Amino acid sequence: MRSVHLTEEIIQAYALNGTHEDPLVVAHIHECETCRAMAESYARMFSALEEMPVATFDFEVKELVLPQLPARAKARPVLVPVLVVIAGSLLALGGAGWYFREYLSGIADPSVPYLLYCLGPAALTLLVVLAADLFSSHRQKMTRLEYY
Ligand SMILES: [Zn+2]
Repeated sequence: MRSVHLTEEIIQAYALNGTHEDPLVVAHIHECETCRAMAESYARMFSALEEMPVATFDFEVKELVLPQLPARAKARPVLVPVLVVIAGSLLALGGAGWYFREYLSGIADPSVPYLLYCLGPAALTLLVVLAADLFSSHRQKMTRLEYY
């Protein structure tokens, strides 16, 4: 009989399998009464655990947990800020147009179409780029929302 006993892990592994890959462990358990008693105790406990019925709850976990979860924040309406910006822009443009109404009569000046030909494509390009960016970010956000 050795003076040092086997570790709990080795005894549990022996109890689970009924044997051990190390012949010294098997020999020690056959010789040592203390370790053999522990191995038999673990073996009884493991077999009792296997015979236990599967735990079932008499309550619904979902009904207990879901009411305690915080409610999702309501999505803020996007249309209202957009309408406010559009209304503000129209008001500013209308106010400026009313304030400079006497100068607007010269808009039919022959030099104005040339100015429009210069600024029109740039404004149109900017509009297309901004719309594409807006559409792209909107799609990314909607894709992200799919995972929630
Ligand atoms: Zn021992």
